Amino acid sequence: MTTRIVVLGAGYAGLPAARRLINRLGDAADVTVVSASPSFVERPRLHQTATGQRLRELPLAGLVGGPRGGSLIVGRIGDIDLAGRRVRVQARDGERTLGYDVLVYALGSTVDVRAVPGVAAHAHTLSGAGSAERLSGALATASPGSTVAVCGGGLCGIEMAAELAESRPDLRVLLASRTEPGAWQAPRARRYLRRAFDRLGVEVLAGAEVREVAEDALVLAGDRRVPYDLCVWAGGFTVPSLARDAGLAVDDQGRIVVDETLRSVSHPEVYAIGDAAAVPGPWGAALAYGCRTGSFTAPCAADAIADRLAGRTPRSFRFRYFHECVSLGRRDAFIQFLHADQTPSRWVLTGRLAVWYKNIVLDSAKVVFRHPGPYTPRRRPAARPAEPAPLAS
Ligand SMILES: Cc1cc2nc3c(=O)[nH]c(=O)nc-3n(C[C@H](O)[C@H](O)[C@H](O)COP(=O)(O)OP(=O)(O)OC[C@H]3O[C@@H](n4cnc5c(N)ncnc54)[C@H](O)[C@@H]3O)c2cc1C
Repeated sequence: MTTRIVVLGAGYAGLPAARRLINRLGDAADVTVVSASPSFVERPRLHQTATGQRLRELPLAGLVGGPRGGSLIVGRIGDIDLAGRRVRVQARDGERTLGYDVLVYALGSTVDVRAVPGVAAHAHTLSGAGSAERLSGALATASPGSTVAVCGGGLCGIEMAAELAESRPDLRVLLASRTEPGAWQAPRARRYLRRAFDRLGVEVLAGAEVREVAEDALVLAGDRRVPYDLCVWAGGFTVPSLARDAGLAVDDQGRIVVDETLRSVSHPEVYAIGDAAAVPGPWGAALAYGCRTGSFTAPCAADAIADRLAGRTPRSFRFRYFHECVSLGRRDAFIQFLHADQTPSRWVLTGRLAVWYKNIVLDSAKVVFRHPGPYTPRRRPAARPAEPAPLAS
């Protein structure tokens, strides 16, 4: 009997996990991937979409399917019935109910539009391809001299402000941030960033605690108003409420709490990976939102599932941070190298070499989608009974 594995999401986590499961389990499993979008959404390049650049499309059908592949369902997940082991999907051709023996939850994150009043009503975001295209449309009609306020001094805010200033020097780009942008980085990276913003003409409003996004102005602490023509909110990520609503154990941000093999602590037939999971790092805190979390958790979860189905003890997840790649438009970037626990080291790569480095990192993720390993031979498990649950540890 084959094991039914349903993978929810086809981003940096879901896609390589599905491919690796297909490689490892072959005919012993039916792998079905559900994604809201028919193509892979390269979220770290959404600021390029927002500034009118066309990205190469990567249809999921070609990555998931194929002669030895799995099935792809394009649709939105309605709800998860954990007791009945079913997922309801609103697919293009109507509602579908998918039964599973093992569920891999990889629904990623979105921009948190509830962080501050007015964001959902008045600000643009870079949550997904649709929101980036809407921002692109709005920017295309912005007249010269218009003020675009980008809120958030984290990576998304920095990259968005720089990309916009480079591609639209006729606009006034204002970056409002609670702290100095990139405050957590090494002094050399911060100096480089300040010089890049000066060169690009990005005005930085540091120490700005945005209390509300009104229709035409940011309202800061002390009721100070900063007028804008267009606002982009990059104030942080959150996760969909689907996991919490279903009854999975989640942390205070709604991320699924997992053990060292990325298995839900409340439901052993569910694995969670990528941004959707609260994965404990060896230094204590959960891993940060990021593609690398997805790329590293995916193979570990796929291997844990395959190992358990074969009656083997899975390996624990191991992780260390290595770098943070920050683009500053198309011609400049910097790479902040990190210690294992994400604290910055003193090594920083800048300029054209950093642009090249970041492109290689992003492109190599897409190579892994096609060749997700394992790269060393492993024994395939024998066919398992249809109901393997509860899965033995
Ligand atoms: C502008 C921007 C720049 C970024 N830059 C970087 C960077 O430089 N470095 C870095 O490490 N990270 C960066 N990130 C973060 C990175 O993109 C995410 O952390 C990463 O995409 C998370 O991978 P994931 O697989 O967990 O989720 P995602 O890549 O978000 O994939 C989620 C999947 O779930 C699907 N999905 C979601 N909800 C539903 C639903 N209800 N029904 C059906 N399908 C659904 C989606 O269609 C998608 O297939 C950036 C993000 C943004 C927005």
